[in-house]
Amino acid sequence: MAGFNTIDDLGDLSGKRVMVRVDFNVPVRDGEVSDATRLERAVPTVRELSEKGAKVILLSHFGRPKGQRDETMSLRPVAEAFSEVLGRQVGFAADSVGEPANDAVAAMQPGDVLLLENTRFHAAEEANDEVYAKALAMNADAYVNDAFSAAHRAHASTEFLAQLVPAAAGRAMQRELDYLNAALAAPERPVMAIVGGAKVSTKLDVLTNLLGKADKIIVGGGMANTFLLAMGEDVGKSLAEPDLVPTAKEILSRAGAQGCEIILPRDVVVAAKFEANADTAVRAADAVKPGEMILDLGPDSVDAYAEALEGCKTLIWNGPLGAFETPPFHTATVELARYAAKLTKEGQLTSVAGGGDTVAALNMAGVADDFTYISTAGGAFLEWMEGKTLPGVAALSRN
Ligand code: AMP
Repeated sequence: MAGFNTIDDLGDLSGKRVMVRVDFNVPVRDGEVSDATRLERAVPTVRELSEKGAKVILLSHFGRPKGQRDETMSLRPVAEAFSEVLGRQVGFAADSVGEPANDAVAAMQPGDVLLLENTRFHAAEEANDEVYAKALAMNADAYVNDAFSAAHRAHASTEFLAQLVPAAAGRAMQRELDYLNAALAAPERPVMAIVGGAKVSTKLDVLTNLLGKADKIIVGGGMANTFLLAMGEDVGKSLAEPDLVPTAKEILSRAGAQGCEIILPRDVVVAAKFEANADTAVRAADAVKPGEMILDLGPDSVDAYAEALEGCKTLIWNGPLGAFETPPFHTATVELARYAAKLTKEGQLTSVAGGGDTVAALNMAGVADDFTYISTAGGAFLEWMEGKTLPGVAALSRN
């Protein structure tokens, strides 16, 4: 991704209607927002635009109402929660287009903030429909997208609308793109990638893209079992994808040809049963017994991975190294996360991590604030790691 527009490129916004795509798809329990992280992320952009005298019109999806009005998925309570987070009155319009939206926008004063109802109450949103996008654009002099986490979807509020009025990245989106580009597009070398998680099949495109970008790739989690199979090892009852052994072999040989080192586990933690506080043993990677399941990496693997990380300047991490939700199989992930955090704090490493499970694991390790950047986007982060152009980002490009 080359350059993209930012708010600075939109010129004088005083009195202008600026439609801001945010991701207010927040967890709500009993009508209360239970985690306000996504609301907080939107504050800098909304505050800046409001202070510049813009009429700030917020646009978001919420849940999966499948193109129909569903009051249980109304953004109305989120408008109230955002008022509190922002410290300023946030209005609400009962529809994203048509009379409710048009009337509410017409009544706005410079600096006002208004949230429109869930875009997904219209099937046209997910269809990236022109008529709906134009109905949104009627109330916009400019468009700002501050929702990286929704940028992998070509929907009317993330893609088509950006074609209709001057479009730019908001501050949260700008920050995210800057960090992600610094880690993958133009990183300081050597670059280490950590790819973990359950299955090779869901991370094939990630691995393939990283072969050309990273100097070293650590493979962990259930995925590593398929690679161990490809090396001719027995993985017992472990989660593995035998049908992907040829693919794993091909990835290994392509890595060799491209000068990318793939580092596999030396030792693993096994158990006969997958349950909390199960009896465990550490086995060399070539000594797993038939009835055993690999559920984490062993201490020698962690040491080797830490050593490999030591000489690196950039780390990009997606996916846990073990079944981290179930103790003690969080150990390798937590230890390597703490080591990466230490190198980052010492100024030796730029560390970027993303994906829901990865963020949860880094929080468990207590190091989420010590990484250079953590992306809370799930699908968008993975697609970006796959080297894909995200439609919502492409629509903000400078040409
Ligand atoms: P993903 O969504 O692909 O990043 O996979 C994350 C999931 O992989 C987590 O729920 C982990 O518990 C799981 N996982 C990681 N390592 C293993 C393993 N060795 N065996 C089974 N599940 C694993």
